[in-house]
Amino acid sequence: MKESTINNLLNFDKDHIWHPYTSMKEPLPVYLVESADGALLKLGSGEELIDGMSSWWCVIHGYNNPRLNQALRDQVDKMAHVMFGGITHIPAIELSKKLIRMTPIGLERVFFADSGSVSVEVAIKMALQYSISRGRVSRNKVATISGGYHGDTWHAMSVCDPVGGMHSLYNGRLPIQYFAPRPTVEFGAEWCDDDFSPMKKLIYEHHEELAAVIVEPIVQGAGGMWMYHPEYLKKLSALCTSYDILLIVDEIATGFGRTGKMFASEWSGVVPDIMCVGKAITGGYMSFAATLATAKVADVISSGDPSEIMHGPTFMANPLACAVANESLAMLEEASPLLRIKEIESIMRDELSKAEGCTNIKNIRVLGAIGVLETHSPVDMARCQEEFVKRGVWVRPFGRLIYIMPQYIITNDQLIKLCRALVAVANIDDVFKK
Ligand SMILES: *Cc1c(COP(=O)(O)O)cnc(C)c1O
Repeated sequence: MKESTINNLLNFDKDHIWHPYTSMKEPLPVYLVESADGALLKLGSGEELIDGMSSWWCVIHGYNNPRLNQALRDQVDKMAHVMFGGITHIPAIELSKKLIRMTPIGLERVFFADSGSVSVEVAIKMALQYSISRGRVSRNKVATISGGYHGDTWHAMSVCDPVGGMHSLYNGRLPIQYFAPRPTVEFGAEWCDDDFSPMKKLIYEHHEELAAVIVEPIVQGAGGMWMYHPEYLKKLSALCTSYDILLIVDEIATGFGRTGKMFASEWSGVVPDIMCVGKAITGGYMSFAATLATAKVADVISSGDPSEIMHGPTFMANPLACAVANESLAMLEEASPLLRIKEIESIMRDELSKAEGCTNIKNIRVLGAIGVLETHSPVDMARCQEEFVKRGVWVRPFGRLIYIMPQYIITNDQLIKLCRALVAVANIDDVFKK
C-alpha cells in the first residue's frame, strides 16, 4: 500500500475509532494489518511480523487456516444465523457433544454465549440462581483471588483485580465481592499449606454470603500473567464442596491446551461446578464462548422459581461460530496439540532464560505455550512496540509484563526469533518508564 494511503487510513482511525483501553486524545499508535497467514501478520507497508500474541490467546491454529476457512464457507451456504429460541441446529448439537467430551467429566450442560465476558456473567447468574433455588438468598456474593481478570462487563469486572482493575474508577457502583490475596507459591515451586490460609479464612468467615468462588485456574492472564501451584486449586475445590459453594473456573484464556493440559483445571484434577470457555474455542475466528455446568447445578436452577436461566442473547449459538468452533476442536481432537506445546515450552525456557541477569528483569516464567518476562519498571508501550516491530515480531506488553503466547503452529525458527526479540528488547533501558 502507498504510504499516503496508509497515513490517511490511520488518521481517520485516530480521529474516530476507539481501541481497547485507549484515549481518543493522543492515543497510542496503531499498525495497519492488511492480512495474516499462519503465524505472520502482514502490515500495509509490506512488513511481516511474527505474531507472539495469538491475537490475545485465540488464534491457536494460525491465521487464514484452510480448514477453518472451509468450515465457515460450508456453513455460510447453509445458514449464517438463526435464532436459538425455539430452534436448534446441528452445529450447536455437535459442538456441545465435543465440549462435554473434552472438558473434565461431569460438565454436561452447555450455555452458548457471545463473548467471554458474557459467559462469565452467565456463570455468575447460574450461581446466584442456584442459591435462590435452594432458598439461600443471603448467598449472593462471589469470592475470588486478587490479580484476576474475568472480562469487562459489569459482574465480570467486579471480580477482576481490585487494584489493577476498574474498581476505583466505578467506585461505589460495582457489586462488592470478596478477595483473597493471589496465591504466592509459584507453579513448580514447593507447595506450602500457608498459601491457602487467607482463602480458607475468607470462606470460613463469609460462607453464608457466598454463592460461588471464581478463579482462573493455574494461570492468571490479563491480571498479571501469574502461574500458581495446582495444590491451591485442589484445596479450593475441596473447601468449596464442603461448604456447598459453587466453584467457577474461568478457562477462557487457559483452555484448549494453552497451559500444557487441555484445560488448566486438569493440573489439579479438579472438576468445577461451572466452567467458562472462550477465546481459542473458534480458533480465533470470531467472538464466541460457552458456560458449562454440571447436571446438579442445572437441576437445582431448573427446580427453582423461576426455573429458567435468565439469559438469552440474540446471537446465542450462532451457527457460523459453532461451525468454526467444531472444526477448531476437531483439529485438537484429531491431533493433540499437547506434544507441540511441550516443545514450545522447552524452546521458550531455553531462549527466555537468556534474560536472566538482565537488570530490567525481575522474574522469568514459562508454562505450556505461555512465556513471561516480568520487569522491574512498567513498559513504555509505544516505545516497546516500535522496537518489536523493528525486529519483525508482534508483542504487546502491558504494565510490568512482556509476554508471549504463540500459536501452536508457529515454527521453531519463528519462535526462536520471537524469543530473541523479547530478550533483546528487555535489555533496552529506554523502553521502560522511569
Ligand atoms: C479474555 C478473558 C475474558 C473475557 O473474554 P472476552 O471475550 O474478551 O469478553 C474473561 N476471562 C478471562 C480469563 C479472559 O482471559
